[in-house]
Amino acid sequence: MSELKLCQGPKCHQHNTKDRLKGPKGNKTYQTRRRSDFYYGSGNFCSLNCQNDWFETYGNRAIDHFGRLTEPKHLTEDNAWYKTYDWNSNDETLYVYRNGITKEERPLTKEQYRDNNYTLNERG
Ligand SMILES: [Zn+2]
Repeated sequence: MSELKLCQGPKCHQHNTKDRLKGPKGNKTYQTRRRSDFYYGSGNFCSLNCQNDWFETYGNRAIDHFGRLTEPKHLTEDNAWYKTYDWNSNDETLYVYRNGITKEERPLTKEQYRDNNYTLNERG
């Protein structure tokens, strides 16, 4: 059995649903949810509520830590590439990089599509 993750929501145990009630009979407590994986917040939260609780508690500090935007970003031809996919007439998935400004498309392999570090965008 793979290791279970804990929901990172700071108030997860306070959302008192039946499935959070754990422990030996007569001594049950509401506990943070544990799962093999979660759907929210890159696999860190059991629900949007818990994700929002985290942001309410830590969001400002996280933004200040990683760098708060002080000027608007601009979409230009250099940073307008995004990954997308379509199907051809044989129902095969075609992965492409599409430029949101020029509409130019460049073919991608499935591996490149899934690789979050693979990008045609210039940094910044
Ligand atoms: Zn939670």
